[in-house]
Amino acid sequence: MSKTNPAENLFRAKHDKADFIIAGPCSAETEYQTLETARQISACKKVKVFRAGIWKPRTSPGNFEGVGEIAFNWLRKIKKQTELLTATEAATPEHIEQCLKNRDALDIIWIGARTTANPFSVQALADALKGTDIPVLIKNPLNPDIKLWAGAVERFKKAGIKHTGVIHRGFSPFENTHLRNLPKWELAIEIKSIFPEIPIINDPSHIAGNRKYIKETAQKALNLNFDGLMIETHITPHTALSDAKQQITPETLKNYLKTLKFRKSTSEDSEFRNLLEQYREQINSIDYQLLELLNKRMKITEKIGRYKLKNNVSIFQLKRWLDISETRQDFGKTIGLDEHFIKKILQLVHRESIRIQSKIMNSNKKN
Ligand code: PEP
Ligand code: MN
Repeated sequence: MSKTNPAENLFRAKHDKADFIIAGPCSAETEYQTLETARQISACKKVKVFRAGIWKPRTSPGNFEGVGEIAFNWLRKIKKQTELLTATEAATPEHIEQCLKNRDALDIIWIGARTTANPFSVQALADALKGTDIPVLIKNPLNPDIKLWAGAVERFKKAGIKHTGVIHRGFSPFENTHLRNLPKWELAIEIKSIFPEIPIINDPSHIAGNRKYIKETAQKALNLNFDGLMIETHITPHTALSDAKQQITPETLKNYLKTLKFRKSTSEDSEFRNLLEQYREQINSIDYQLLELLNKRMKITEKIGRYKLKNNVSIFQLKRWLDISETRQDFGKTIGLDEHFIKKILQLVHRESIRIQSKIMNSNKKN
């Protein structure tokens, strides 16, 4: 493949304004639905990649499981008739074989959340892709395990896949929430810092599970400097054979892409840079002061630990802990801090105090 391959360029580019935009139906259902969705999506110039599931991982059996290989003929037509690149999900080595056989119809493979959760499956796919040049996007696993996600990316890199990227599609919630999958923005930031060179894309459709929440989720991702979005789009969402509730029409997509605020990752404007630099300096100074204070607090904790040991008093004092927790939360509230945030910080500090005191008790050194 030549150096000007547009899919490779997309992976290589510096996305300083979230322009890695993927859209298309959850599933390719019919030739008409697939081609017409692509035609309407391509009219809204911002989309670079057309997505369509060919094989669908369904939670329960007996549902629509995708049309299979025939959809490559439709993707091939889309590539001929539009500027769009194409992407589909592969979950087994057989799928990879079909993808490679139809390489002229397909630019990108993505790995689904259920597959990323299983290292055996990921390795089998990486092995099946060895020696090929097709870029691979890796969705986060269902469970919020950053090592499992990063491990999957590494497996593809080790197999020699030059162009990889990640997709944050949220994590299975344990309890009922208004979202289908909970976003864990801190994990998205962490995976980006492990692999700073690869694009990170947000999939607000699978996070939201309902079209009502797609736009706000997408905006949140753009605020956090994601490199792109993957949005499920269907000409008639309510008739969709999978994920009907979370798909939007190409018209709505066009509207979203026009009204979402695409933030730049930085600005060359010198006034902006100067002021930002000043704010950052303030934050730096405050962070060091926080650390010094924490250190001071822990030193007193050590003294208390030795004192308790001398007097044979237990480490954990419920009344004192409840008092600390309550008074600090109350104070935090009066100065405008979030109660939940204070509670979490106090718990961490308290846990560390207990660890330090336990160490002292175990060592039995009273001075
Ligand atoms: C999909 O993209 O249609 C899909 C099945 O996604 P996920 O693997 O995120 O559930
Ligand atoms: Mn879907």
